[in-house]
Parts: sequence; structure tokens; C-alpha cells
Amino acid sequence: MSQGIRRPHQAVDFDEAARRFPPPPEYFEGAYLASAEEIERTQLARLRHRADQAYRIPFHRRRWDAAGFAPGDLRTLGDLWRAPAYTVDDIRHSIEAAPPYGDYQAVVPGDAVREPMRLYMSGGTTGASRPTFYTAWDRAVGGILEARQLYMQGVRPGDVVVNSWSYGTHNGAFSFDEAAYQWLNCVVITASTGNVTSSRKQVELALEYGATAILTTGDYVLRLAEVVREMGLDPRKDLALKAIPNIGDTALLEETFGLPCFATYGFHEVQTVAVECEARDGLHIFEDAFVVQVVDPETGEPLPDGETGALVVTELYKTGSAQFRYNIMDLSYLMPRQQCGCGSWLRKIGPFAGRGDNMVKLRGVNLWPEVVGEVATSVPGTAPDYFVRALRDGNRDEMVVHVVGAGDPAGFGDLAGSVEDALRERFGVRIRAEIAAPGALDAWTGVDVSPKLKRFRDER
Ligand SMILES: [Zn+2]
Repeated sequence: MSQGIRRPHQAVDFDEAARRFPPPPEYFEGAYLASAEEIERTQLARLRHRADQAYRIPFHRRRWDAAGFAPGDLRTLGDLWRAPAYTVDDIRHSIEAAPPYGDYQAVVPGDAVREPMRLYMSGGTTGASRPTFYTAWDRAVGGILEARQLYMQGVRPGDVVVNSWSYGTHNGAFSFDEAAYQWLNCVVITASTGNVTSSRKQVELALEYGATAILTTGDYVLRLAEVVREMGLDPRKDLALKAIPNIGDTALLEETFGLPCFATYGFHEVQTVAVECEARDGLHIFEDAFVVQVVDPETGEPLPDGETGALVVTELYKTGSAQFRYNIMDLSYLMPRQQCGCGSWLRKIGPFAGRGDNMVKLRGVNLWPEVVGEVATSVPGTAPDYFVRALRDGNRDEMVVHVVGAGDPAGFGDLAGSVEDALRERFGVRIRAEIAAPGALDAWTGVDVSPKLKRFRDER
């Protein structure tokens, strides 16, 4: 007797998942090219269904009742603005009040009898890790979304890929694994990080089996390129890479591997949200699975298209834990809906522009360290390495950007002036610039000790 147990293949109708959220390559012949009306019709229908489900979860019900919002209020996509947003702080409070899972999950472990599920922890880049339940359905659809990403970046069925993400408590490595194996029919070599499989061995595997992509961070794949060179080989010619699905220093990645690096945006609770297309002018949102809004990071008020603010994401597919107007505090902007050069009407966002919770208000102007750093390092003569500090000088706030100079130190004084001019022109306020020698910022950025560089320190 099964005693009512449903195995994953019984709990999930995989054909239904693929019909509702087409995997690649079918997706790119269908939903990717849908008309604006069709896209928004699908979004609204799914949004209303998601709202009904989310309202059953105590976390959302409590917040919606307090704000006077009910699922039935959703008559147009614009009505989504009437639902309250929440941030990671609200999720932390939920966990503290109802440990260990919080009351924002739609399932509990006992439900796994009927609804097989996994539990993954967030990376915890800011604060303690957060648990999220993913049902088998969530894994399936999340895998499809990530398979679309890999396809847009150049990975194809039948390819061999090395997965060098950490197979740990975080879902990153598993998401790529499931996407590549279950939905893109790639052959995955489960290398994990350099601690598990040495960098030398990773390179040997990629060479021997003709891997077309190495799934990992931009920093680590660049490290592997160094290993290739140490072996007397050329990363462009001797590796068989066809895609660089790696987030990092785009210019350096493209230069190193001689391939285009298409940007992506996503986060662990929902998988891939948006991917850059061949037109290379913004990232298309997978709008059959998401509604993305942009708000002022301080007030939560809607911002017009083109203005940088915090992304608020509502997913349209999950059953394990609803993300309904999650203000993720990642900064970007929305582009107006229009047909892209690639043929798609899917709305686009700009590239990730930093974290909204790092915002510094300088004489009335909202500044984000990452955006300041980006402008500073775009000045000719600088290297792509910087560190921003917020200081208190007397009774006013100041900001100093330290940028590494690429050329002769004799010219650093002039270079600082050029950087200050560029910053004033862009932001309309004075930001002090200091030019540092190569390597001088390493202790601040932590380049040798952490894969995630620190770029900002608040000293006020
Ligand atoms: Zn496009």
C-alpha cells in the first residue's frame, strides 16, 4: 500500500509544467514572442490565482488584512500596487516569531508525504540564512526558467557542462544541475567548487570532455582561465566553451574567452527572473512567471520607467512559498514595453545596479555605492577596481570613492580631477575621488578572502 504517498512523478504533471512554462527551445518559438496583450492577459490570470493561494499563508494574510487588500481587488495588473510589499527584514521577523521556518511558507515538512519538497538556505549575504521550501513543482518550473537562461546564453541540448557551483545548503548548484539535466538535456559534470575538485582537475575535466560551459561565478571561471594558461594553453582556443553563463567582470570575461557574456538577474527564492538577449539592450523578464515593479527604496512609492530604484518581484508559479511583492532591494530600472530587436515584447530591466539598502543620501541626492563605482571606473585611465566610503565631516555627510589608477602614478592627481568631474556631472553633487595603486584596495575589498567583493563601508 502506498499509504497516500505521492512520489515526485505523481505529484507533478511535468507535461503540464512544460505547457504552462515552456522550456527551451520551444519557449523561444512561442511565449517569448507573444504579443503585449497576450503577455499581460497571462500575467493577470496567473496573478489572481497566486493572490488566492498567497492569502492562505499567514504571513501574507496578516499583512494584506492590515493594508485592506483582498485578492479579489486584482482586476487589472495595476491593482497589484494595492498589495503591500515586504522586505527581507519582514521575513526575518517572521522566522523569529515562528521558528525555525517562519510563517511565510505554504507547506510544512509533513506535507512532503503528498508534496515532495526540498529545503534550501539563502546565501545570507546580509544577515542570517533563511530557509525556503521548494515543492517538486517549484523545482520543475524553476529548472525550466534557468534552462531558458542557459539557452539564451548559448548552452544547447547535448552539450557537456561542468557545474562548479557549490553543492551545499544553497540551491544554486542544484538549480543549474536540474536546469541543465532535466530541461536542457545537457550532460552535467558535478565538479562543485575548488575545495571539492581542484581547479587543475576542473580544467582537465573541461578539456577532456569538451565542456561548452563552466557554471560558476565570473571570478572563479577567470581563475580557471589562469590555470589553463599555467598549463601552457589558451582559454580561447583550447577550451571548447560556447557560452559564459558567469556573472562578474563582463568585459574581462568576454576578452578572456572571446565569447559574448549575456547578463542575467535572479535570486534564490525564485530562480532566473530576466536574461539579456542578443540585442544587448536590457534583460527580458520571463513575464509568464513574474511581474516586476520598481519602487523608491526609501518610500516604496512607484517609480516611472527608466528611473533606478528597488525591484519588487511577484512570482506567478510557486507552491512552496509565495513571493508576492517581495522588495528584494536590488537596484535596476524598467524599460517601457515595446518590441525588442530580437522580436520579443517581454518587458526589460536594466542591468543589476547595486543594493538598495546601501543607499547613501548626500545633500538630498540618493546615491548607491555600486553606481558611483561604475561611473568612476568608466573614466579612461582607471582600472575596474574601487571602494566607496561614506563619512561624517563636521555636520554633513561626505562620500569618497577610491579608484585604482591604471597608468603612471604621476598622472593620478589629474585623474582624480577627471573622476570627480564625471561624478558631479552624473549625480549633481561633489564626491571626492582618490586614486590608489593597483592592489592598494585589496584589504578593503577582501579580494583574497571572499568570492564576493566588498565595495562599500559606512563610517558615519
Ligand atoms: Zn530582446
